[in-house]
Amino acid sequence: MSDKLMDTYTPLPVSFERGEGAWLWDTCGKRYLDALSGVAVCNLGHAHPAVSKALCEQAGKLLHTSNIYKIPLQQQLAGELTRLAGMDKAFFCNSGAEANEAAIKLARLYGHQKGIKTPSIVVTSGSFHGRTMATLSATGNRKIQAGFEPLVRGFVRVEYSDLDAIRNVAKNDPDVVAVLVEPVQGEGGVRMPDDDYLPGLRTLCDEQEWLLMLDEVQTGMGRTGKMFAFQHSGITPDVMTLAKGLGNGVPVGACLARGAAASVFQPGNHATTFGGNPLVCSAALAVIETLEQQNLPAQAAELASRMLENLRNTLSESACVKEIRGKGMMFGIELDRPCSELVTRALDAGLLINVTATNVIRLLPPLILDEKEADEIVDRVCRLINEFAALDTAA
Ligand SMILES: *Cc1c(COP(=O)(O)O)cnc(C)c1O
Repeated sequence: MSDKLMDTYTPLPVSFERGEGAWLWDTCGKRYLDALSGVAVCNLGHAHPAVSKALCEQAGKLLHTSNIYKIPLQQQLAGELTRLAGMDKAFFCNSGAEANEAAIKLARLYGHQKGIKTPSIVVTSGSFHGRTMATLSATGNRKIQAGFEPLVRGFVRVEYSDLDAIRNVAKNDPDVVAVLVEPVQGEGGVRMPDDDYLPGLRTLCDEQEWLLMLDEVQTGMGRTGKMFAFQHSGITPDVMTLAKGLGNGVPVGACLARGAAASVFQPGNHATTFGGNPLVCSAALAVIETLEQQNLPAQAAELASRMLENLRNTLSESACVKEIRGKGMMFGIELDRPCSELVTRALDAGLLINVTATNVIRLLPPLILDEKEADEIVDRVCRLINEFAALDTAA
């Protein structure tokens, strides 16, 4: 059935027919607890009534007109996002990669406007920014770049969470115009930087007149316990990108900018056909309203800290567990061995999880979990890990 699809994926042998909250049902009627949310997309869970209602109503009125015309829903969404993030302006697109493309173009144009003819952007090892040519070039993972050379130039790579390395770049490279980093590296293995990292980057960017650009494609929209992950650190970026959770499943991305960065793009510099059409904006507005009205980021953070504690307590004796990391509903359980087979083992047990960076179990449950569901995820994950450890030792 899938042989007419290009071989870009190796899908698991299951397809889902419907979902509700944190639960999915496959085509055979089997039920699964979703601890992945379509990789941080369905933050409000599946078939959320507010999102479904907004989409149905908007679909009956108007899907698309083009950015040739004013789009009031887009204006409204820009208003909400800039208010929440303390930013000034927004550009809408259709994915995380596109949001980062916009940020990269914005930074280069900012450089050219300052008279820098070959502007470069500092990026980090272990990062993930997307699969377009510029964003895979910015990505700090050779596997994602291999075979697609020549890469896009103009990126300088340093270790993640290493302020000295970036200070060193500042001393030696006059062409740098911006820094692009994730507040927590998602694909890279749920890696958190030191607490002083983002504030340190903010200070350095201010000194150098560089743009601090945060890729919040995965961490944004309540995922880490605040609406945006940068809000844990008391700083504000110049540019921030969003996508995944923004539309709860409809493709919508955004590049937000503040201060000087907000007036870099002028008519003709950047554009998209679909970006920010009435349909996706109606969904994103429903997402924001729901997150805010129910105080979901904070509520989820409370539940998540209990989950983290339970994971750490239950797995404290597990020799194969190296580290358990968590920020809000973003968890990484690092094992001492490759563990991708845990994904299928979990699937058999009716649980959806992910493994990234070969040995990190990644959990990104929906923010609407109740306590019982949260406990069930922890129980099931701990059981899987302990069974897996026993199996490997026996072999
Ligand atoms: C998923 C992701 C992207 C890419 O988003 P797409 O919508 O797949 O293009 C970029 N950056 C981060 C941090 C991501 O997690």
